[in-house]
Amino acid sequence: MGLLTVGTPLAWEDMLHHSRYIRKHGVLQFLHTLRRMQHLENDPFLYGDEVEYGLLKVDPIRKTVRLSLRGPEAMEALRRQEQEELQGCAWHEEYGSWMLEGTPRVPYGGYVMGLLGIEQNMRLRRGRILSVLNEDEMAPTLVAFPLLGVGFTGSSIGASPASDSALVPDSCINPHPRFATLTANIRKRRGSKVDIRVPLFKDSKTTEFETATEPMIHMDCMAFGMGCCCLQVTFQASDLDESRLLYDQLAVLAPIMLALTAATPIVKGRLAATDARWSLISQSVDDRTPAERGEAGIADARMAGAGIRKQSKSRYDSISCFIHPGSRAFNDLPCETDEDTFALLQQEGVDEALAQHVSHLFTRDPLAAFAGHVEEVDDFASTDHFESIQSTNWQTVRWKPPPATSACGTGAPHVGWRTEFRSMEVQLTDFENAAFTAFMVLVSRAILVFNLNLLVPLSKVDENMGRAHAADAVGTQNFWFRRQIWQEAEQGELCEMTMDEIMNGSKEFVGLVPLCYAYLKHIRCDNSSFKHLDQYLKLISGRASGELMTPAKWMRCFVRSHKEYKFDSVVSESIAFDMVKACNDIGLGKRPCPEILGEVEIEPITTGQYETPLFCDKLGPSERKGLLQKMLLRAPSALKSTLAERCGEPQSFCYARLAACT
Ligand code: ADP
Ligand code: MG
Ligand code: MG
Ligand code: MG
Repeated sequence: MGLLTVGTPLAWEDMLHHSRYIRKHGVLQFLHTLRRMQHLENDPFLYGDEVEYGLLKVDPIRKTVRLSLRGPEAMEALRRQEQEELQGCAWHEEYGSWMLEGTPRVPYGGYVMGLLGIEQNMRLRRGRILSVLNEDEMAPTLVAFPLLGVGFTGSSIGASPASDSALVPDSCINPHPRFATLTANIRKRRGSKVDIRVPLFKDSKTTEFETATEPMIHMDCMAFGMGCCCLQVTFQASDLDESRLLYDQLAVLAPIMLALTAATPIVKGRLAATDARWSLISQSVDDRTPAERGEAGIADARMAGAGIRKQSKSRYDSISCFIHPGSRAFNDLPCETDEDTFALLQQEGVDEALAQHVSHLFTRDPLAAFAGHVEEVDDFASTDHFESIQSTNWQTVRWKPPPATSACGTGAPHVGWRTEFRSMEVQLTDFENAAFTAFMVLVSRAILVFNLNLLVPLSKVDENMGRAHAADAVGTQNFWFRRQIWQEAEQGELCEMTMDEIMNGSKEFVGLVPLCYAYLKHIRCDNSSFKHLDQYLKLISGRASGELMTPAKWMRCFVRSHKEYKFDSVVSESIAFDMVKACNDIGLGKRPCPEILGEVEIEPITTGQYETPLFCDKLGPSERKGLLQKMLLRAPSALKSTLAERCGEPQSFCYARLAACT
């Protein structure tokens, strides 16, 4: 979730008084970072993934499954248990109190070896999570808990002062004060509860279709969206320019990868007509005032744009502008900017494309501020106000400037300009999550090495985004894509391609998977690593061709072929239980799933997997004696009886010595 400042959050009204200050100083902090860091060059290629997990509590006898609100507790336990080893894990808070985020402890390095380490590290995370779960808990990597908002606890639902939800109690929100504050302030800024609608799936007996043409699944709070789990990948670029280039190129792939990883066919106990989460989250944090959404409304001078500047997108949405200077011709969407911010940035010499991006971010108000941490923040030592705006602009890609701690000479590890790819849905297994992470790494390298240009007008990216949500988008939709992707080719010809064509190529188009193979060939990837990466690329290829199912397709089939399903689009508690259990078992390698994985079998995950340290603390005499005596008892009796005679031989010599000193 990004920035986590500690302290007492300010109430919305108090916060509004500080909004202008925070926005202004956020921009100053950005400018300071830019001046300090714009000349970085040749930073090493590093990258890291983020995987989110949901803790669930199951009752196998009654066949029920609920959220387990122990996310923060599990995170603390995992952090305590974590060791110093570099290949370890790091654990982070997430929005839901049933959620948890895991990343590698340090980013992976730019070698083929790193690509092979992704899955290992993900498996380690899953194994370690198992060690902090109660017996009746599980932590599958499911995008959405299928029964969220359905008779939540079975008794009273609990109070919800932050979200005002009639469906989900505030106890589902992470207790860190930032999260309830975000929830309440989004609602207050908007002037009403969030209003989430996801189209309902039409099955042969779905009664809603008798009275409505496009019935919706209605939801009313942030948890429905921010409670979704995803897979993100952050890349460190060699310099500022490369980070901007990657941002634009990856933004084009965001809808494609959303469709290919789709895993959200069930929300609030119903089958949806869509397969992916993005629009649901977008609506769940849409803090735009009525005026910003194009309805009538009154101005409030304290707000960004006085709360009446038309905003074409939610603050959780696909990007509104490309940011590399060379991408200008493709910016064909309205991109609202904060005029004062834009003017200041230009005056300070920031080029138009970047000024537009940053001043677009700053059309949003900060959503949380903490007492004693507003005017007290030193703009030269901190980027907290910048991050306050940046971390609540949840777009399909995020451009991440170096943090304040990454100053030369502070001793903190150096962190350069990064680009984060944020659209992918979390997969059931670490094999898939690693495959998609590795694929994005390879594609990003191919873009740089082969000098590719994937850009299409942003309006087409957004069209793709809409299509990516469709049920079985992989099999049913075409996506706008460039046929000519070599940078030298002028304005590449746009066409609509199937997912199969985009990934596997056609007569006219080379295909992204073949490009990854070409890249591996180019770097002379060794054979044994190649075999491993080949499995990943086969997964991507098979999924794109339809030979393998997306998790969404598999889940929809699971529900529709369940013996208790009544073809009314209702996912009952016992169907949900069976599905969640199956998903968990697939992730743990206890249940094969050739429909999703093809021939790949997941090796079962073992609990814990903590390293055994090679201790060298001194032992006292009595402990030493006890230990040595135990060893002696273990020595084979034949050996013990001949100790004296055969004390010339090394092993028996050892036992003889042991015998003497105990
Ligand atoms: P956020 O939630 O703000 O996106 P996280 O810290 O949760 O950030 O995750 C960021 C990911 O970036 C992690 O996988 C981490 O390993 C990785 N990462 C950390 N430092 C770098 C770096 N210098 N370059 C690339 N990736 C990095
Ligand atoms: Mg997260
Ligand atoms: Mg994170
Ligand atoms: Mg992230």
